[in-house]
Amino acid sequence: MLRHNPSSGAGDARPRELAIIGGGPAGIAAALAAAGAGARVTLISEGPVGGRAGWDSLIPSKVRIVAAEAMAAAHAAEPLGLVRGDLPRIDPPAILARIGAVSASWGAQQADALAARGMTTLYGVASFVAPGRLLVRDAAGQEVVALAADAIIIATGSVPRFPPAMRPDRTRVIAPRFASTLAKLPPDIVIVGGGVTGSEFASIFSLLGVQVSWVVGPKGVLPDFAPEAGQAIVAALTQRGVAIRQGQPAVRITPHESGVEVITADDVGHRAAMAFLAVGCTLDLGRLNLAATGLTPAADGTLCADAMGRTEAIGVYVVGDAAGGPMLANRAMAQAWVAGRHAAGAESTLPRAEAVVHAAYTIPQVAQVGAVGSADAHTVRLPLRAMLKAHLSGEDEGVFLLSFDPRSQRVLGAVAVGRMPPTPSPPSPWRYSSSWRSAIWLPCSPLIRRWARWPSPLPAPPLSGMWEAKRVRTHVNQPRRGNPRLG
Ligand SMILES: Cc1cc2nc3c(=O)[nH]c(=O)nc-3n(C[C@H](O)[C@H](O)[C@H](O)COP(=O)(O)OP(=O)(O)OC[C@H]3O[C@@H](n4cnc5c(N)ncnc54)[C@H](O)[C@@H]3O)c2cc1C
Repeated sequence: MLRHNPSSGAGDARPRELAIIGGGPAGIAAALAAAGAGARVTLISEGPVGGRAGWDSLIPSKVRIVAAEAMAAAHAAEPLGLVRGDLPRIDPPAILARIGAVSASWGAQQADALAARGMTTLYGVASFVAPGRLLVRDAAGQEVVALAADAIIIATGSVPRFPPAMRPDRTRVIAPRFASTLAKLPPDIVIVGGGVTGSEFASIFSLLGVQVSWVVGPKGVLPDFAPEAGQAIVAALTQRGVAIRQGQPAVRITPHESGVEVITADDVGHRAAMAFLAVGCTLDLGRLNLAATGLTPAADGTLCADAMGRTEAIGVYVVGDAAGGPMLANRAMAQAWVAGRHAAGAESTLPRAEAVVHAAYTIPQVAQVGAVGSADAHTVRLPLRAMLKAHLSGEDEGVFLLSFDPRSQRVLGAVAVGRMPPTPSPPSPWRYSSSWRSAIWLPCSPLIRRWARWPSPLPAPPLSGMWEAKRVRTHVNQPRRGNPRLG
């Protein structure tokens, strides 16, 4: 059994020993930040490096979206003056193979980056045995390693949550993570649930030729975005033949001779060969034995943590999906970067959650940064066709909204909805979003001067510039003053 001993605490010249639980985007970002700040890092990963984002959710869904976009682009070629030849058709096994290949190469790249910085990666499931002490067990529950660390970062992500009457069976009722193994497309499907995941899969399946019914509860299709974004998605998908039923949540799913029936709260049935559940997630904290480090999750399941990710237990941080809040890889990585440096005892910066881009990779896509449409803001609304670039690429659906403070002329937020240009062009993924981010933090006229393409579906490294505003120097083991329960 391997045993590590932590350094003795703040002020010790020796590098800090850090343990990071979880090998997803948050764990990797925290590990790279901490190692870059001079800490000795051990990453504990239940599965291969890449996390659920790499193997189950983000990458598999984005591989399908890229295929669906290429399909959409082929269909959109004719109005541009191109002769339409044979249109591509979907080859599900080839897509599955591509999902596997992209997940593996992305994971390998991340694992190489960790190894290049001299980090140790342990494979297994970690749990606390005492403050600052972890046990790692293998899949069979056998103890493989015990280790101690000056700081421990929890980056264990989230898992889908299903009501008892709506559970996936992996054949007729599926969920995002099983979609990465879907070898055959059904003729029709009921998507259950709104939000980014429901919206993306309604979009993907409809473009891949599946007849889609979409059941969305009272919160609407994109509750975390400006209402115009949801309205634009509803309009675009309706035009594409998606039958959208809004306002009534699904309450149960029953088998049916040719598939399943999804029943909504008003007792209406929606039949299809398959149902796809996008009904929410819960934090993956249950296996950590948090009590051993003195932590108890609040009633909503979250751990109390401050802007640096520090929990109420000294030296324990929580980041990424495991910290709750909007579940986005971009946000997870930005937050983890800050916590990683802080836990390493390095100078760190306060994260600015409102500068993180929220995106839905539907077709048309949606991207939002900052606050849009608040009561004291002025909001400019432009249809996408007001832009010459949209005219050139044949875009006829979409909208752009920008909110600004009328007194200071400071931009507060922006949201854009629009489809990808139909012709392939070199990726310049973060140009839109980074110009918005700059606009939010730099006083400027509310005119958008630069117009480029949408943000990339894949997580980008945190942009250091956006975190530069306020520097603070802190020490990991320094107890905080005041009420330990953070507001
Ligand atoms: C279908 C879908 C599409 C998405 N698309 C996007 C997108 O386009 N853009 C975007 O920004 N976000 C997207 N997201 C959200 C994104 O995937 C998450 O925000 C991201 O995965 C969070 O990263 P994480 O590192 O916190 O967690 P995860 O990726 O969940 O990684 C956590 C890892 O920790 C491991 N773990 C858990 N407990 C332990 C333990 N005790 N010991 C050891 N290891 C443990 C888990 O097995 C997992 O491997 C999508 C999500 C879904 C479901």
